[in-house]
Amino acid sequence: MDTNPLNFVLIGRSGCGKGTQAKLLGEHFGNLYYISTGSLFRKLAQQETEVGYKIKELLEGGGLPFDDLAIMLWMSEISYNLKIGQGFCLDGAPRRLEEAKALDAFLKYLDKQNSTMVILLDISRQEAFERLTKRRICQGCGQLIPWVGDYKNLEICDKCGGVLEERADDVPEAIKHRLDYFDNEVMKVVKYFKKKKRLIKINGEQPIAQVFSDILAEVRKSNDKY
Ligand SMILES: [Zn+2]
Repeated sequence: MDTNPLNFVLIGRSGCGKGTQAKLLGEHFGNLYYISTGSLFRKLAQQETEVGYKIKELLEGGGLPFDDLAIMLWMSEISYNLKIGQGFCLDGAPRRLEEAKALDAFLKYLDKQNSTMVILLDISRQEAFERLTKRRICQGCGQLIPWVGDYKNLEICDKCGGVLEERADDVPEAIKHRLDYFDNEVMKVVKYFKKKKRLIKINGEQPIAQVFSDILAEVRKSNDKY
C-alpha cells in the first residue's frame, strides 16, 4: 500500500476541463477518490432539510451562500470516505481564500501538504467564454462536442455524421457572472498557493492529451517514484 499517495486539487475557470483531467488522473493513478464540490452541493440540495432547501434555492439562482458550507462538505467527505492509503482529487474547490487556508491547514494535519499537487488549468477569460457558449451537440447521437482543440474544426459529428448545433451551457449573463467570480475570488486562491510556491500552472488551452501529459510531467518532476 502506498503510504503517502498523491492528491490533486484542480483549479480553473469554467470550461477549463477540470472534470476531464480529473477523470484521466483517476484512470492513470487508479486508487484516487474523486470529490466534486458541485455534486456535493447538488446532493445536499436534494435533502429535505433546512440547509438542503436553502441550497436548492441557491442553485436555482436565488438565495445566499453560507461560506463555510463548502469547507464542511469536502472536509466531511474526506473524513468519512477517504481510505487509508488512498489519494484524492478535489475538483471545484477551494474557491475562496478562506477555503484555501482551511484546506491547507487540513492537509497539514493529515501530513499531506507535500503530496498534494495544486494545479491551475489556465485558460483565458475569452477562451472560457467561447468554450461555454460555443460548444455543440450532435442532433443525431447527442454527443457533446466541446469547443476545444481539433473539435472546433468538426463540421459534422465524428461518430455518426450527424448535424451539429450550438448549445450554450448557460445564458451569457450567468457565464459572465461565473467568470467574474473566478477573477475576484478564486484568483486569491491561485495567488495564495503561488506565494507558497506550490502552484502548478498548466496551459489549459492545449489539446486534452497534451494538458494531461504536461500534468504528468510536473508530477514526475516533483515525485521520483512516478
Ligand atoms: Zn452524432
